[in-house]
Amino acid sequence: MNKPLDPAALAPATPAKPDKIPYALPQPWGMAKDLVAHDILAEDERLWVPIAPDIWSRPIHLNPVGGFYIHMLKVKRSGVLQRHRHSGQVHAYVIKGSWYYLEHDWVAKEGSYIFEPPGETHTLTVPDDCSEMITLFTVYGSLMYVDPMGVSLGYDDVFTRIDKYRAHFEKVGLGADYVQQFMR
Ligand code: FE
Repeated sequence: MNKPLDPAALAPATPAKPDKIPYALPQPWGMAKDLVAHDILAEDERLWVPIAPDIWSRPIHLNPVGGFYIHMLKVKRSGVLQRHRHSGQVHAYVIKGSWYYLEHDWVAKEGSYIFEPPGETHTLTVPDDCSEMITLFTVYGSLMYVDPMGVSLGYDDVFTRIDKYRAHFEKVGLGADYVQQFMR
């Protein structure tokens, strides 16, 4: 007489969990390499690039093909920093401190997310009671620096940023090509 089947004996030794199976096929040809930035608040001073008195930018992801850059802006002074017009969208996440635009009645505080629409002109200001502000900005296109009537005074985009980062990394001994790890 046959023994009754033990269902446990039929189950594979390590049952596959559908959520733990990695994708089995190659990634598409031409795909960019992934980019992981750990410890983006690291205090290594060489990574914080001075872009104006008491203002620093730490590159996170610079993307010339996409025409955007992601960086952390650190400011250690209060008052009006500059006025600019955006050609593309901006996404901001405030990590520390606070800031506002003279054109709006809201204040971006630690933990705030802000969307800045293409076309907007605004005047970045840090309140007097804020000694240090750090914000993660994703910036598409260019910032055109303007006077109150919108007359252009200069601009920044991913390319001017890369130039500034390269010059800084060269100066502090990391070498200009250090910037490449942030680029896709
Ligand atoms: Fe802006």
